[in-house]
Amino acid sequence: MIKPFESMINDESLKFTQTLNTLQVNVGSLCNLACKHCHISAGSNRRELMSLETMKQVIRLLPNFKTLDITGGAPEMNPKYRWLVDEACKTGVHVMTRSNLVIMTEAGYQDLPEFLAECGVEIVCSLPYYSENDCDRQRGKGTFKAVISMLQKLNALGYGKSLPLDLVYNPGGAFLPPSQSSLQKEYKSRLHSEYGIEFTNLFVITNNPIGRFGEFLHRSGNYERYMKRLSDSFNPEALPVMMCRFQLSVGYDEKLYDCDFNQPLGLVINGPENICDVNDIAQLTPRKIKFANHCYACVAGSGSSCGGATT
Ligand code: SF4
Ligand code: SF4
Repeated sequence: MIKPFESMINDESLKFTQTLNTLQVNVGSLCNLACKHCHISAGSNRRELMSLETMKQVIRLLPNFKTLDITGGAPEMNPKYRWLVDEACKTGVHVMTRSNLVIMTEAGYQDLPEFLAECGVEIVCSLPYYSENDCDRQRGKGTFKAVISMLQKLNALGYGKSLPLDLVYNPGGAFLPPSQSSLQKEYKSRLHSEYGIEFTNLFVITNNPIGRFGEFLHRSGNYERYMKRLSDSFNPEALPVMMCRFQLSVGYDEKLYDCDFNQPLGLVINGPENICDVNDIAQLTPRKIKFANHCYACVAGSGSSCGGATT
């Protein structure tokens, strides 16, 4: 039996947010893929999408932050995605979008690379491994080739050179990721020598035991073992840099969360629950974070966040 996560935090101040840098916005669970590690359980059967009215609230709050991080689902499938990107860029904050890139090879989305390059948006793309078999096993047949062709197109537009292009690695099962710096070297070398691809950074992310990945752990009888692995790897140095201490997360339904992992669990923040109820950033920080045992994934080993390893 593992200890409740919160009991592992001895310093009370680490249970609270600090200055908020990033506003992360989940614009919906609709996705063209159905990856095995997905913590949102996103897929083509999901219909939840953020409305234009909620996006207007996001733009209203944005000047209080340095970065807007747009995620989903496949965020591009929200019909108002381009509006959000455009309006966010006008505010002058740094805008980043998460993408599976496969979507940009599909009809209706093929001009997105040029649109994002013109706006100067940072692209963060999931690529679970640099080999076709491993990638396709986790994300679906044909995904590796589609991502490779799109990375080549993005390189031609200046991504991975003058424009930031990051890749994301997730373990293909119930184990912790390897070292981010050594894996980045491997990715850079293999993707460049085999496909001529360049990218900026590799983010190594620990699979969170919720959503579709959580279902897999339960189904395969691995849940307890994985949780023990996470708690045995507890790294106190990762506590001060947990991403929830520096960000606010907005759900498609305008509810506010400490992070994108707390969304599928319905753990709204201690504070105003809806973005439209926020009039002053002082309502949002300092606030006590809502922890549960899935939080072990953020502080195991080298630590993990949406921006990769934290220590
Ligand atoms: S991990 Fe990303 S690309 Fe894969 S199903 Fe989930 S939201 Fe879609
Ligand atoms: S899961 Fe969310 S709330 Fe928990 S430690 Fe990670 S970022 Fe913080």
